Formats: sequence, structure tokens, C-alpha cells
Amino acid sequence: MKSVYTLADLRDWANATRDCVPPLRLAVIGDPVAHSKSPQMHNPALAAAGIDAAYTRLHILPGEVEECIRLLPGAGFIGINCTIPHKGSVLAAVNQPDETARRAGGVNTVIVQPDGTTAGTSTDGGGFSRAVRESFGVGLAELRVLVLGAGGGAGRAVAMQCAAENCVSLTLANRTVEKLPSLASEIGSFYPADRVSLAGDDSLAAAALGADLVVNCTAVGMKADDPSPLPASMIAARHLVYDTIYVGHRTPLLRAADEAGSRGANGLAMLLHQGALSFERWFSRPAPLEVMRAGLLGQSPSL
Ligand code: NAP
Repeated sequence: MKSVYTLADLRDWANATRDCVPPLRLAVIGDPVAHSKSPQMHNPALAAAGIDAAYTRLHILPGEVEECIRLLPGAGFIGINCTIPHKGSVLAAVNQPDETARRAGGVNTVIVQPDGTTAGTSTDGGGFSRAVRESFGVGLAELRVLVLGAGGGAGRAVAMQCAAENCVSLTLANRTVEKLPSLASEIGSFYPADRVSLAGDDSLAAAALGADLVVNCTAVGMKADDPSPLPASMIAARHLVYDTIYVGHRTPLLRAADEAGSRGANGLAMLLHQGALSFERWFSRPAPLEVMRAGLLGQSPSL
């Protein structure tokens, strides 16, 4: 069994995976994909649930997405997850994207349906919501939220989820501020427009002052020596700080939160819960959450 397969393998899946027990019927597609932790979360869950299927990685290049989606039903797939950079192109490639995927601007979960068509959804926002509940014991509906990096894929999914759950207010910030007005206007089609605001560099301090929950959806913090995406001076003890980044180190934002005496959590819970929501969509049953968490934390066998 390989740890990463390709489109060439998918074209001849029965042959390429003939020695695999249980059969490989789920995967994460991405470019790159070798780093993905999804197999180590899903394989223990499949085993614990007694499901005769295993989860692998598919390295799919940008020009290969449409063919990949088309091949899934014939190859016996139950579904797939999608990571960078494919979420947007999978949205266009599946037969039935749902409202959540359209709002998020991408699909992270494909479900192969009994009739051989493909449905697509996004569990990123729902995973974020559950992660906030788990980390801070509060729901989005009770919070004034500031989303840093709202113009990126994760930021858009998070902002849409906050609005869908009717958060108290929503402030959108992004390095490229030009991306924000169209996003705000989309959000304003189903959430009160007077509760959405945009923050630039000069209004970030005021935005932080008016927020309960600060969410980092930028890539700033992936490297330990990155700056904090929100200056430390703008973080107060009363803030809840959620950094969607999940890396080994405490991110610069979370270190700033620690120094301010505020509560902070990293993106591991979001990764866990988006995966659990995918599992629930594929199998119409609750996911074995603690098994998945142990897998993510490297406490159970993985592919
Ligand atoms: P993306 O679509 O490429 O968006 C990247 C975002 O980061 C954009 O808003 C971009 O701003 C901003 N950014 C990048 N470099 C920056 C810099 N030097 N200064 C300020 N802003 C900068 O990527 P994505 O998929 O949304 O991922 C973003 C982050 O979310 C990643 O760190 C990823 O780990 C995390 N994430 C976590 C989960 C989870 O389950 N925990 C899921 C998905 C993503 P511009 O628009 O100006 O370029």
C-alpha cells in the first residue's frame, strides 16, 4: 500500500489497490497532499466503526480535478475530502454542490451517491463552529466576531458560518481589502447588512475593541517567527482567540493571547470537527470523535 496515489492509479483503481485490505474507498485530494493528517484521523474511525473501507491520499494536480471527480463512482469511492488548492474547482466539478459549499466558495467533502452522482458540501464552517463551542463553551450566536483573513478560503467559510448562525456582529479584515466588499455584500443577502463591517489597518484596533472572538484565518503564524496577525497591544484578557492554524508550535497570535491573559485555542479542533462532519455525511451516523482526536494527536496507528 502506498501512502500517496495519483490520477494514473485512480484510472485503474482496482488494479492499483488490489492488495489493499480493507479496500481504499475514501481519500483526501490535494497538491501537495503528502503532509495531510486526514488518514490518521479517519482510518482509526473507520476501524472503530467496523466499516470495511480505508482512507488514503491522492495527489491530484490542478488540471486533473474534473477527471478525478468523474472517476470516483466507478472506482468504488464513498467520498473524498479536498484540500489546497482544489476546493474551488471541486465546487465546479461535482454534480450537486449544496448551499453551504456555494457560500464557502468551495467543497471540502464529496459524497458519492447511490445513483453514481457526486454531492459536495463544506464542513469547514461547521467544524469551526463546533471547535469554538468545544474550546470556549460558547456559541457563535452569542459573539461579536472579528475574522482576520476573511478574503481567503478558510476565512470565507468561517465568516459565512458566523453569519449563518446569526452572530451578534461580524467584522471582516483582510490584507487585500479589495476582496471584502463583495464578500460583505454576499453575506448581506442573508444576514443583517448593518451588522457587518470591514476593517483595514487603520480601523483594526477599533474592530478588536468591539469583538469578543478574534479568529485568525490568515497564513500568518505558520512559521514560528511570523509576527502576530493582530498586534499584541490590541488583544485584551476578555478576548477569545481562535487561531485556525494547526502547527506544532504555539502560534504568535496565541502567544500574544497568552501574554494578554486571554483564552486561546489552535486549529486542531476545527480540523477534527470538519473531519467528523465529513464522516457523518458519508455514513449518516455519529463519528467516533475521541478515536479521531487520538488519531490526529498521533496516538493510534496511521497509514
Ligand atoms: P488561502 O485561501 O490561501 O488564504 C490565505 C489568507 O491568508 C488570505 O486571507 C491572505 O490574504 C492571508 N495572508 C497570507 N499571507 C499573508 C500575510 N503575509 N499577511 C497578511 N495576510 C496574509 O488559504 P486558506 O485555505 O484560507 O488557509 C488559511 C489558513 O487557515 C492556513 O493557515 C490554514 O492552516 C488554516 N486552515 C485551517 C483549517 C483547520 O481545519 N484548522 C482549515 C482550513 C485552513 P490575501 O487575501 O491578502 O492574500
